[in-house]
Amino acid sequence: MSSESAPRRGLMLVISSPSGAGKTTLSRMLLEKYEDVSLSVSATTRAPRPGEEDGVHYHFVDRAQFESLIERREFLEWARVFDHFYGTPRAAVEERLSAGKDVIFDVDWQGADAIHDQMPNDVVSVFVLPPTIKALRERLEARPGSDPEKVKRRMSGARNEIRHWRRYDYVIVNRDLDDAFEELEGILVTERRKRLRQIQLDSLVQDLLEEE
Ligand code: 5GP
Repeated sequence: MSSESAPRRGLMLVISSPSGAGKTTLSRMLLEKYEDVSLSVSATTRAPRPGEEDGVHYHFVDRAQFESLIERREFLEWARVFDHFYGTPRAAVEERLSAGKDVIFDVDWQGADAIHDQMPNDVVSVFVLPPTIKALRERLEARPGSDPEKVKRRMSGARNEIRHWRRYDYVIVNRDLDDAFEELEGILVTERRKRLRQIQLDSLVQDLLEEE
């Protein structure tokens, strides 16, 4: 679809939360329900884990390829996490927005900030909070392969992430998954109606004003 024929400009739905608060489940529910919503696929220099597919979970690239992508300014943002590099490719996002499709970004607060800096008019940011610290701990403990050390590390990371909640446009408290999903859908549907995104309105209004 060309940008001229898209009825609206897509939006960038940036969703953050401490791990265990439900952001991945909520993103997946949106992806399943809305065919014009897709997930941004990052590039990374780390090796694929079992079950991960190139182009689906990540674009797996080597260090030289990653550096050349940085030089060619092909990332909206990138970061070094431990020994590996991760970046959000710009072109795929811009193509989808022009075609009237929405893109979800499952990133931490620093990624959210960097993406917002690049494309402030396109970003809608949502922070998902757990209802209590106890509920968060229980969700982390219930994860397959969890151990006390991992839970402790994640809990400390969670508190650090939660401190940045005020940077977001919307905050959802995930007390009940279905209610939280309904809130997220409400945000998506309302934000799609924003005047800035209704790109065909200019010509409609022009026609309305020209009619005698
Ligand atoms: P993993 O290697 O476990 O898939 O991801 C490690 C970390 O890298 C996670 O915290 C994840 O959120 C972060 N990450 C993944 N993709 C990107 C990206 O495109 N940009 C940034 N800044 N971080 C990313």
